[in-house]
Amino acid sequence: MRSIEHFINGQRVAGSSGRHGEVFDPNSGHVQARVALAGADELEHAVATAAAAQADWAKVNPQRRARVMFEFKRLLEANMDELAALLSSEHGKVHSDARGDIQRGLEVIEFSCGIPHLLKGEYTQGAGPGIDVYSARQPLGVVAGITPFNFPAMIPMWMFGPAIASGNAFILKPSERDPSVPVRLAELMIEAGLPPGVLNVVHGDKDTVEALVKHPAIKAVSFVGSSDIAQSVYALGAQHGKRMQCMGGAKNHGIILPDADLDQAVADILGAAYGSAGERCMALPVVVPVGEATAEALRARLLEKIPTLKVGVSSDPQAHFGPVVTAAHKARIEHYIQMGVDEGAELVLDGRGFQLPGHEGGFFLGATLFDRVTDAMTTYRDEIFGPVLQIVRAETFEEALALPSRHAYGNGVAIFTRNGDAAREFAERVEVGMVGINVPIPVPVAYHSFGGWKRSGFGDLNQYGLDGVRFFTRTKTVTQRWPRGGAVTDQSFVIPTMR
Ligand code: NAD
Repeated sequence: MRSIEHFINGQRVAGSSGRHGEVFDPNSGHVQARVALAGADELEHAVATAAAAQADWAKVNPQRRARVMFEFKRLLEANMDELAALLSSEHGKVHSDARGDIQRGLEVIEFSCGIPHLLKGEYTQGAGPGIDVYSARQPLGVVAGITPFNFPAMIPMWMFGPAIASGNAFILKPSERDPSVPVRLAELMIEAGLPPGVLNVVHGDKDTVEALVKHPAIKAVSFVGSSDIAQSVYALGAQHGKRMQCMGGAKNHGIILPDADLDQAVADILGAAYGSAGERCMALPVVVPVGEATAEALRARLLEKIPTLKVGVSSDPQAHFGPVVTAAHKARIEHYIQMGVDEGAELVLDGRGFQLPGHEGGFFLGATLFDRVTDAMTTYRDEIFGPVLQIVRAETFEEALALPSRHAYGNGVAIFTRNGDAAREFAERVEVGMVGINVPIPVPVAYHSFGGWKRSGFGDLNQYGLDGVRFFTRTKTVTQRWPRGGAVTDQSFVIPTMR
């Protein structure tokens, strides 16, 4: 059986802890590889290697560091098909979507190519007599990223792109469920010219994460995953004096006003609810039609379209979505579908029991639709993270606005309307971090930044964009005086001012 090893100091390193995890092929349900889970010694080795490499990497001028990013981008493009196939084989998302996963990470690498400009500091000439002030952003040292299973290419690149371009060394702890692509990314970074030791991949689980967060040599930790874990990792980091940013789960709403272009909105909602089998933190698992007529028209169109969606193996170019990641995750989604029934929601289409001929062991689920879901239901409040769409009917704009605003999660939201005034008011008032106006999945472009509110994000700086550079650097401000002549200024016991 294939073994997935750590990647430390520019090479694959076999696990020595004796612990390992199983990596499934979601299309067949078989175990396809064993992944090493790091123990304390392996972690120590990775951190020491990173610390040794970082000192020299920080001295490489920013333009040269950018050249590594440019070359890495070229290699990503040249290896796109191989990476997408590997990603699909462990995650289960279809190839076209796997390419999108890589592409969205690649765009953050493109942004990171601008690091010479991004790191330029500020300067004030003549802040006082003979006094100039400048500030510069310096790397932190060794930093770490902990990533979820659902974007095994994009999210690692959100983090290590800006971190490494800024002069840090990076330890990546990817999801143990689909760990192969992160290792390939690290290999390609070395091929692009990154010195060994600057980017290391250490596989692991809860124990590894806790050891990483507590490690005194690691200065900052970026985490993306589910909310309870994000919050506990955030708290652990704070307790150990670390700079932390921890992104959590989501329950994003799509609001449909009566004047929306319904055909377009339904097309958008189908892709956003069922794409990647609903395993996206920016999926739209809740749709809120405003008014009875909108709700009935929406339901009729969904009922017509959902049965035409094709569930297939991830290599099937005709498939709209593939299997979910593991049998345990499939069972969890089925549990939530049953809970929805028990809570009194109307199960309109049931995806349980779906079987793909020839792939009976695969972790497949059909598209599921619930109507008449209410905000009192646990299945509405919790993140299901599967191909399950819930209709929550609202009478008015205010009611529709209140639903995502009051929800515990605040990652993304979308509104579908032709009314600019209503859309503008919605965007201004809604208590959610990322808003789409006739855009179902408003993941910001690489030169803005990504971050949810409330239980979707702990910490105050977002992922990538300028916030990414700020998170992985710290500001040093220098006030300098070069007196002109021999005159000695009087001693002073008052706080210096610029009167
Ligand atoms: P997860 O929380 O199970 O795992 C995330 C990471 O934490 C993994 O690397 C995992 O090994 C590690 N981990 C697992 N248990 C841990 C524990 N007890 N203590 C410390 N670390 C632990 O998340 P997942 O199932 O891999 O990913 C799906 C979740 O991630 C969903 O909730 C989704 O909404 C969220 N997500 C959020 C964003 C965002 O930017 N807000 C993006 C993608 C995914």
